[in-house]
Amino acid sequence: MTQDISPQNTSNAPKQRKAVALISGGLDSLLAAKVVQEQGIHVEGINFYTGFCVEGHTHAIRKKDKDKQKRNNSLWVAEQLGIKLHIIDISEEYKDIVLNPKHGYGANLNPCLDCKIFMVNQAQAWAWAEENGFDFIITGEVIGQRPKSQRKETMPIIARESGADDRLLRPLCAKNLIPTLPEREGWVNRDELYDFSGRSRKPQFELAKKFGFEDFAQPAGGCCFLTDANYSKKLADLWDARGERRYELDDIMLLKVGRHIRPKKNFKLIVSREEGENNFLRGYKKQFTSIHTVSHGGPLTLLDGEFDKDDIRLAAQIAARYSGGKNADQVTVQVENYKGTSFVMDVPPMTAEDVKQEWHV
Ligand code: SF4
Repeated sequence: MTQDISPQNTSNAPKQRKAVALISGGLDSLLAAKVVQEQGIHVEGINFYTGFCVEGHTHAIRKKDKDKQKRNNSLWVAEQLGIKLHIIDISEEYKDIVLNPKHGYGANLNPCLDCKIFMVNQAQAWAWAEENGFDFIITGEVIGQRPKSQRKETMPIIARESGADDRLLRPLCAKNLIPTLPEREGWVNRDELYDFSGRSRKPQFELAKKFGFEDFAQPAGGCCFLTDANYSKKLADLWDARGERRYELDDIMLLKVGRHIRPKKNFKLIVSREEGENNFLRGYKKQFTSIHTVSHGGPLTLLDGEFDKDDIRLAAQIAARYSGGKNADQVTVQVENYKGTSFVMDVPPMTAEDVKQEWHV
């Protein structure tokens, strides 16, 4: 029998281990990846686009946010770490998570536990992850940080149900958990991992300082709109009005923009609040009936649902209420359907009191 004496076989150098880090764009995933990278592991990042991501989108539309930095935080994080980032659009497959979360929702319509399982699973299931010899997965989870998905009892559920099992390492709270394969095998040194727990962000800020990271994203309530109470209310209203739980990407984009007013169950208005939103909503004129004020400056309004002539008149009066002619006797509006056919009508604007509080979604 001949013996293989190729250089690979004779080398005693330890194999270069590779990890895939789930990069949300927030501080925790940045730190988790950095901690592992510091131990000489080759790290690459994955960022999942769900459609509910906060960053950039509303800031890019609204003028009042024009001074806020418009950047893709996950790309920024990857740049800080000097790692390759793979951005994957999972918005279609993600629908099932939002609509039918096996483990239920958090405080709002955030299916965090199912979401985490799904994302880790996606990362693991990735053909290239195995093809390229990735050894384990890193997330920035911290025990107790989020009430639902980041409890000590739920950590093993995510590991098990995602299929990643003990190849899922949470460097920021690893010392509070059972040692994972990368720790047991000595690929990473458990002593140099952390034991963060609880809602306080202080240890993270200190670690960020130690690594010299400044200017990282700290989105209130997380990185996704599903944790936002107002947004979740609008999504619940959409399902309720439709009589079924379903959505398209455009639906969830539009929930991020404008005032949503539902005067009757069968339809709602999406009224732009400023120029940037006007421009954004204009892009939807071929999909929705729209109203814009002609006699006075005013918002662009989209009508979503089923409506008759009386409903259109009601909608026109509400739209007029948000125009420069709100105190005028009559406001002229142009109503245009999605095919481009339009007509003009004069309506008395509704008073502020008549636009009932409960109509505001
Ligand atoms: S906040 Fe959103 S993206 Fe993050 S785990 Fe929860 S549902 Fe998923």
